[in-house]
Amino acid sequence: MKITLLSSTFVLCCCLWRVFALPDTIVIGGIFDAKDERQELAFRYAVDRVNRDRSTLSRSMLRAQVEKLPADDSFHASKRVCMLLRTGVAAIFGPQSENTANHVQSICDAMEVPHIETRWDYKLTRDEYSVNLYPYPPSLSKAYLDILKELQWKSFVILYDSNEGLVRLQDLLMEKKFTVTVRQLNEDGDYRPLLKDIKRSQETRIVLDVAQEKIYHVLKQAAQIGLMREYHNYFITSLDFNLIDIEDFRYGGTNITGIQLIDPKNEQLAQVVEEWMYGELKYGRALPPHLKHITTEAALMYDAVHLFAKALDDLDASHDVIIDKLYCEGDKAWQHGSSLINYMKLYSSRPPTGGTRGGMPGGRFGPIANYSYHDQVQVFGLTGLIKFDTQGFRSDFKLDILEMDVKEGLKKVGTWTKHEGANYTRSWKDAVGAVELNLHNKTLIVSTALTPPYSMLKDSSERLQGNDRFEGFCIDLIDEIAKIRGFNYTFKEVDDGNYGSRNRETGEWDGIVRELLDHKADLGIVDFTITYEREEAVDFSMPFMNLGISIIYKKPQKKAPSLFSFMSPFSVDVWIYMATAYLGVSVLLFILARMVPEEWECPYPCIQEPEELENSFTLLNCLWFIIGTFLCQGGDIAPKAVSTRIVAGIWWFFTLIMISSYTANLAAFLTVERMDSPIEGAEDLAKQTKIKYGCKAGGSTYTFFRDSNIPTYQRMWAAMSNARPSVFTASNDDGVERVSKSGGQYAFLMESSSIEYEVERKCDLMQVGSLLDSKSYGIALPPGSPYTGPISSAILKLKESGVLHMLKTRWWKQRKGGGRCQTEESKDAASAAELGLENVGGVFVVMVGGFIISIFVACCEFLWKARKLATEDGASFSEELRKELLFIINCRESEKAVRKKPSPAETDSSSIYDESSSTYGYSDKK
Ligand code: GLU
Repeated sequence: MKITLLSSTFVLCCCLWRVFALPDTIVIGGIFDAKDERQELAFRYAVDRVNRDRSTLSRSMLRAQVEKLPADDSFHASKRVCMLLRTGVAAIFGPQSENTANHVQSICDAMEVPHIETRWDYKLTRDEYSVNLYPYPPSLSKAYLDILKELQWKSFVILYDSNEGLVRLQDLLMEKKFTVTVRQLNEDGDYRPLLKDIKRSQETRIVLDVAQEKIYHVLKQAAQIGLMREYHNYFITSLDFNLIDIEDFRYGGTNITGIQLIDPKNEQLAQVVEEWMYGELKYGRALPPHLKHITTEAALMYDAVHLFAKALDDLDASHDVIIDKLYCEGDKAWQHGSSLINYMKLYSSRPPTGGTRGGMPGGRFGPIANYSYHDQVQVFGLTGLIKFDTQGFRSDFKLDILEMDVKEGLKKVGTWTKHEGANYTRSWKDAVGAVELNLHNKTLIVSTALTPPYSMLKDSSERLQGNDRFEGFCIDLIDEIAKIRGFNYTFKEVDDGNYGSRNRETGEWDGIVRELLDHKADLGIVDFTITYEREEAVDFSMPFMNLGISIIYKKPQKKAPSLFSFMSPFSVDVWIYMATAYLGVSVLLFILARMVPEEWECPYPCIQEPEELENSFTLLNCLWFIIGTFLCQGGDIAPKAVSTRIVAGIWWFFTLIMISSYTANLAAFLTVERMDSPIEGAEDLAKQTKIKYGCKAGGSTYTFFRDSNIPTYQRMWAAMSNARPSVFTASNDDGVERVSKSGGQYAFLMESSSIEYEVERKCDLMQVGSLLDSKSYGIALPPGSPYTGPISSAILKLKESGVLHMLKTRWWKQRKGGGRCQTEESKDAASAAELGLENVGGVFVVMVGGFIISIFVACCEFLWKARKLATEDGASFSEELRKELLFIINCRESEKAVRKKPSPAETDSSSIYDESSSTYGYSDKK
């Protein structure tokens, strides 16, 4: 009895279960634009998948009821929705176009039937019965902003085709740090005029927000006008970046960044795609070739159907779901609509309130797994985690950041999420490796100007072609870099011959900078100074040479050594002081010697008690003693008293120091040739007006003086700019020539490295003064050039391995007459080692002068003595003179008799002179 009761209760329950369970077939409506074949197929495919895989909707089957509409026909849309509702549908999917979707939405709202969308919709609120799986537009906009910030874009052009684009990119437009130019593509399909405009504006960064099918054409036309070079960067906002055929642009080196919501490499997606294309259902095959792939919107539709099926299954677990027929004109609404939509929206938005059945939904989701995480049910679809925020927006999603790679095509380089922002996972090495790969075997155009020794035309009797025409330091440097980086190069001479200066009125650049900006050249090399102004316009590599501004000027003529250059070691003052000291000390010694008793002594030491004492320090003896000791010859008399010895000692000390100083200085004065230059540096130039000075017009030296805030340089700039005729030259060569010809009336301000080169060859020129500033030469590249890094690292390598030094020695000191002045200087130095008559002639003059004076004095003494003897002897002066002369001439006679002083008796009559003997003077004391 008990068993019968139990079994009848079970049967009843089973019957009741069947009565209240979902119907076997649940109809869902799909409204699609007639042209939107892919969305419709995706819808049908998703329904088939749900029906085949029973794990999502276990007890019922879905049936797709599709209605197709002419685009933007809202009247028909309303009618079709009402028709669908009349047949009894559990939800309406689509359409994609905004106008019709809004109508469908309002009807579904009224009937309380879930309306499920997968389209871009920028409305800031969601209707109650609507759920949209498309990523929330403001979140997408934020993703674009984060990625561009990560890419460090500061200025760019937004290229868009419909006004929706501007809404999509509003965060970019509102960002204050960005300089944005907005350009709209025209409808006629010829985008070249607009793209040329962008090219002219020199903007190299473009955000492309155009319909998916236009992207390829825009890029193709950009490539045709040269806007797809390695300097150009594109950011494509489409979520289907991976579906663009980028093969044509892959090797151009253009940096193309994009995003994707679905990852084609994802295993589950691959399964779906496999089945979509080749499975039994073969949906993809029904599409024309260009539509075959699964787009983001198709994947969203797939996820939408699965999400709905799952929610329905979960709702069925807790409610008796009945699908009603509804009438637009009636006032009856579907009672389960609200619960169903809530199930869909609340996955992973709040904790479940119960178990799998009878609580919040869980379970499986087609082939896509779902995971329970912290008690929340997370649902994953082909488009990642499906999660809505409290306002019903899908704001939390994950995007892959993709970049075009020469080797791999599209490459995932990072991800974006709401919480972490843009996160690049690519390593620096990968990024550099990609650029280096791109550079390999590429032919770069190198613009240069003819300035020796940086780049020059080769002297040759043959007609040279291409790179063979050029030679110089920069030519060799590029060759070395090319060897390291594996690229080819073609040198070209800059069209206008200028390096690059900005016109202050028009703001336009000329010279090499212009060519780099126009992408007519990939590298610019010469003695190209890295300046702030140029750095703002173009990129520079690491410096390859350091220098500063200095002055090149004519070497002053060597001064002919003076005859009396032996006097040079002491100034005239010192000579005068020395002469005074000599006289003063002599007199002092004379006085002291007379004062002190020790200096008075008997001339004949054998006389014990002399009646007369004598002092050896007469004035003449003092003068003789002092000069003798001064010239280190000593004297035949010596002081005996303490005081006189002190005087003598001090004088010897003075003599020692003076003679040593003189000797030391004399060597320098006799061997070093002195050159007196009228200017010693920039200060001297600024102070005077006689010597004119200038620099190369339009170069960095010119800009340095023009923009300087230092008073001296400002004065120099005023002098230079007001000078007539102009002191500026077209080139450094012209300036150097002007200096050579000016005869010291013109000085040229030039960079030290170039001065170094010139003074090696032009021996009449020299560098004057030190450096006025400090700067460097670098290789210039177009702004944003990807090659800056590889070129810089190659320069570093060459620096460290000594190649740069070797190149400098080759072009400065060896080739083209290098080292000439050094040879001349060494010759001069050798000849300077021996002293010529011009150096020491004065000493001879002094000696001869001394002899003449001594002869003259001797003559005077002789005459005076002859006259005196004549007077004493009473002989005539001429007779006396004749006798004395005859005696002198008679060289055989070397003895002379002493004349006896005549006694007073004799004196009056006869001469005491004895002719037979040579007598002279008197025997007694004088
Ligand atoms: N190196 C300079 C420049 O890059 C040219 C020479 C100069 O101005 O002294 O403009």
